[in-house]
Amino acid sequence: MSDRHSQSLATRAIHGSSGKDAHGSPHTPIYNTTTFAFSSTADLLEVVDGKKTGSLYTRYGLNPSIFALEETLASLESAEMAWAFCSGMAAETALFLTHGREGIVCIGDAYGGTLELLASQMPLLGIRTHLILGSELERLDELLAGGAMLVFFETPTNPTLELLDIRAICTKAHAHGAKVVIDNTFASPVNQRPLELGADFVVHSATKYLGGHSDLTAGALMGSKELLMPVWNWRKNLGSMISPEVASLLSRSLRTLVVRVRQQNVSAQAVAEAMAQHRKIARVYYPGLADFPGHELAKKQMHGFGGMMSIDVKGSGVDATRVADRLRLFALAPSLGGAESLVTQPCTTTQHGLTPDERSRRGISDAMLRLSVGLEDAADLIADLEQALA
Ligand SMILES: *Cc1c(COP(=O)(O)O)cnc(C)c1O
Repeated sequence: MSDRHSQSLATRAIHGSSGKDAHGSPHTPIYNTTTFAFSSTADLLEVVDGKKTGSLYTRYGLNPSIFALEETLASLESAEMAWAFCSGMAAETALFLTHGREGIVCIGDAYGGTLELLASQMPLLGIRTHLILGSELERLDELLAGGAMLVFFETPTNPTLELLDIRAICTKAHAHGAKVVIDNTFASPVNQRPLELGADFVVHSATKYLGGHSDLTAGALMGSKELLMPVWNWRKNLGSMISPEVASLLSRSLRTLVVRVRQQNVSAQAVAEAMAQHRKIARVYYPGLADFPGHELAKKQMHGFGGMMSIDVKGSGVDATRVADRLRLFALAPSLGGAESLVTQPCTTTQHGLTPDERSRRGISDAMLRLSVGLEDAADLIADLEQALA
């Protein structure tokens, strides 16, 4: 790890990239360029053969705007290296095709696209995948002994905010020679840095907190150089490269990541506490509440409790829909991590594809609403929830 990792996260968010331009720009500008010229064939071959890093062709990721982004992304997750992608799903796909071919275990709930990729699509390529619940962790040993070499999970999970023990799962996986990847989208590196806890990879939908303004789609994969280098050809030939414009926009977003997420932590805590007191709310799922089942583990492995929570409205799914439809500041939209607060009802959106039985097996009630707390004033957000619940 470089010296940059010893600086605090807020400093790394601003100074994580060493790229300065020849005109003194404080950050790398947008190199809206598909290809780069060389002074000689010998020079070109050095870059082509990987003997020298340099810009060459943008789809390969060899572009200064992308290099600058990747340096900051690596620094924020305390990683040796990071690759940027055109989406979170692109990052996951390239990782699974590189390191998941001997079998993948997914623990607990995950993003709908991830579940579909693992349950329905990877098996089409002959890749064996196993989806187990967080409550079925005792099955992990048997699956690892059976040859699965990659363990994937989110923590906190979507939408029940279940906490999974990163250190304990890594220890178990590593004993079998398997690697562990954490989808750190919900927590962001501000609240959780899985590589520091023993994970081998971190994957992000940068579309969410890293981008933070609901205005870009991107993904990222972080880890050691040894484990990331084999992913390079997959990313290159799947064509899942981020564009220079989006790379630059994402670099811009990362400079404010720490202040944004810390404020969202504070506001979400206030919203969760207000909802826990509300007579029309049956249950609040938020790691920052002292009586939440994952609270102690969250205190151990997280630096903040995050901006995501779910609430069970007292009553039916129809009642919850009515509340969602009456919210004014919380926009009804299935994403998260932006400056604007969002609400979704999992049974109508993110978990709509599951059967009612499967939803209830996963602890997702029809009366559940998932909230992504944005950067509005917490008092205004609470007032909005109160008028919608009234
Ligand atoms: C949105 C999301 C993804 C997929 O990311 P895209 O950028 O939309 O491809 C993966 N994991 C989690 C946890 C997400 O929220």
